Amino acid sequence: MGSMRVVVCGGGVIGAATAYFLAKAGAEPIVIERTAVACGASGKSGGFLALDWCDGSPLQPLARRSFALHRQLAEAMPERWGYRPVTTLHLQHDARRSPANDQPTGLPAWLDSATIPTQRLGTPETTAVIHPAAFTRGLLEAAREAGASLVDATVTDLARRSDGSVSGVVAGGESISADAVVIAMGPWSNLLTTLDLPPVHALEGSSLVFRLEDGPTEPVAFFVDYLGADGTHDSPEVVARSDGTVYVSGLSAQPPLPADPGHVAPQPATADRLLAMVRAFAPGLASSPVLARQACFRPVMRDGLPLLGPVPDAPGAFVATGHSVWGMLNAPATGELVADLVLGKSPGIDPAPFAVDRRGLG
Ligand SMILES: Cc1cc2nc3c(=O)[nH]c(=O)nc-3n(C[C@H](O)[C@H](O)[C@H](O)COP(=O)(O)OP(=O)(O)OC[C@H]3O[C@@H](n4cnc5c(N)ncnc54)[C@H](O)[C@@H]3O)c2cc1C
Repeated sequence: MGSMRVVVCGGGVIGAATAYFLAKAGAEPIVIERTAVACGASGKSGGFLALDWCDGSPLQPLARRSFALHRQLAEAMPERWGYRPVTTLHLQHDARRSPANDQPTGLPAWLDSATIPTQRLGTPETTAVIHPAAFTRGLLEAAREAGASLVDATVTDLARRSDGSVSGVVAGGESISADAVVIAMGPWSNLLTTLDLPPVHALEGSSLVFRLEDGPTEPVAFFVDYLGADGTHDSPEVVARSDGTVYVSGLSAQPPLPADPGHVAPQPATADRLLAMVRAFAPGLASSPVLARQACFRPVMRDGLPLLGPVPDAPGAFVATGHSVWGMLNAPATGELVADLVLGKSPGIDPAPFAVDRRGLG
């Protein structure tokens, strides 16, 4: 018997990780991406990783396995996506308070003196960052080196045999046959209406990317409690990357999801609000060149957990989405788990909490 042909729909981090582990296991994954690899949340997220922040939830085994896999992947493919262990702090900025006389030491000079650390949330042993687009592309490239292929097309339907089992997909008007199909289209996973999946919600997040003039800053990530002069309260997140850029995200919203991933664009007013906030809590950052003003949608299930595994009533079809705020972290163990399920191996992590037919998703 030849190797198993698996169509993976979607070239985000979940599709890339699934293709990587399938290829490494000797299968023949074919990734189909309609716009560009990492064009969605997988290229525009923070790329923040934490070992134990999902402890106590059903995500714990997936997150812990993923954190370990991230380190292994970075060691196996060094310098590819800026994997960087970081110190993670909770900071508070209260615009109504007068600035401290002397800023605590060890913080980047670009923070305002009224932005003060209140808690250490993680150490370089428990928190790390990656460049999300480089990670997604890097994993897919490694998958291709191991035998995967990438097709530039829009998946519009599944192909089925008369018994209802899935025999491939229709993409770009053509049929592509496969032994199994994995839907990893992020917030667009419901678009294949002939497959009965529970609703995947789309939550928007905005972000800005700055380039520091003096090169990479300290290896840090910040979760900021921001109290504006007008009494507003926000929680921006800051990630200092090894390539000398600093990423700031915040201001979640739920506008309608554009049907075409290529049409996702930031709201100018939201980007301006985020920049005004950065000007207050990190003036040295706000005066640096802005490389990107962007928005993206994360896929979210009603109970907040990912949707992973076989699709009932559609033998041969699998889904991998719904990772919400932890898709970059949980991609490696998701890819490993889904590859095992597709290949009929017994997985190292119990997939039951993520099953498509679990209760409470309707
Ligand atoms: C602002 C923000 C910050 C975040 N920060 C973090 C973080 O710090 N750490 C963390 O772990 N997670 C973070 N996340 C979450 C993470 O980014 C997501 O969970 C993850 O990227 C989802 O990946 P995905 O592959 O499921 O979806 P996507 O990245 O959306 O990929 C889906 C792909 O499918 C393609 N596609 C869609 N329809 C079709 C079709 N019909 N045919 C072919 N291809 C199709 C799309 O073009 C897209 O490339 C953040 C998310 C946001 C929005």
